[in-house]
Amino acid sequence: MLVRFWGTRGSLPVAMRADAVRGKIAKALKASRGKDLSDDTKIDSFIESDLDFSVSGTFGGASSCVEIDLGNDEFIVCDMGSGLREFGLSSLPKVATGSKSGRYNIFLSHPHWDHIMGFPFFAPAFVPTNSLHFYGGHDIEAALRRQQEDPSFPVPLEWMGASREFTLMTEGETAGFPDWSVTMKKQPHHGDSFGYRFEHRDKVVVYTTDAEHKLEDMEGMDAHIEFMRDADVVIFDTMYSMADAISVKQDWGHSSNTVAVDMCHQANVKQLVMFHHEPVHSDAMIVQTHRETMRYEELVRPGEAALTVSCAYDGMEITV
Ligand SMILES: [Zn+2]
Ligand SMILES: [Zn+2]
Repeated sequence: MLVRFWGTRGSLPVAMRADAVRGKIAKALKASRGKDLSDDTKIDSFIESDLDFSVSGTFGGASSCVEIDLGNDEFIVCDMGSGLREFGLSSLPKVATGSKSGRYNIFLSHPHWDHIMGFPFFAPAFVPTNSLHFYGGHDIEAALRRQQEDPSFPVPLEWMGASREFTLMTEGETAGFPDWSVTMKKQPHHGDSFGYRFEHRDKVVVYTTDAEHKLEDMEGMDAHIEFMRDADVVIFDTMYSMADAISVKQDWGHSSNTVAVDMCHQANVKQLVMFHHEPVHSDAMIVQTHRETMRYEELVRPGEAALTVSCAYDGMEITV
């Protein structure tokens, strides 16, 4: 199982500005003082070992889109944020060479705009031999149609030639496929959102974004902990810090890094992936939050086994 992150930003896509790029170059050059950078290998190892990720890289700015590659001939993707555009382009050669069929299984958390905005730019949807299979707990077809209606967009849904099939799943339902299954769970969010638990052989990946888990709703939190039970990887909405989540941004529909760690500990999860990053946060701020989250995990760890805490960035891949 391979998990590929095509869009990891929440609410609104963002792009780095010139001053941010310049700032990274300046920091890298200052850090290189006195270092031996006389050949390409030394430069690569300097970038890898001496520079912070906020200097050597970026979390990127595309909105939610995560691919789950089971190594079989179908595509599985969660959400259609702006990251879907690049996922679509990357998938076309795989269909052309026959390593994948043209079947795309798309699981939608909810139809908020940041989770569907990539669809009008999804190249595989224009290929008549492809088939798109949408799954979720909302009326996905209506949301996609409305997004491409006048005066919002020039290309209506009907102009996209791939076949479309919409499956409305119900809370707690498990859909079985030849060698994998997926279970859907309702989450607290404005207009509801849905999380998905994917199981393939003995591996489990849970995609759970746009959910506000509140400490006063113990029953709801317990049910969600069971949903994540013993997962290898949990991709979790950590948009806010704890301070934000319980003050100004209470009821905005998102969770915090500390709630994520606490729930993953209780669910015996192996790896937590921080996801749906706040658009106003810079790379340096996200790195800082990631460090604080790892430190928090260490402090509150209930047993011996550590929970791995990763921070998603556009282009990241995890082998499960
Ligand atoms: Zn969102
Ligand atoms: Zn939302």
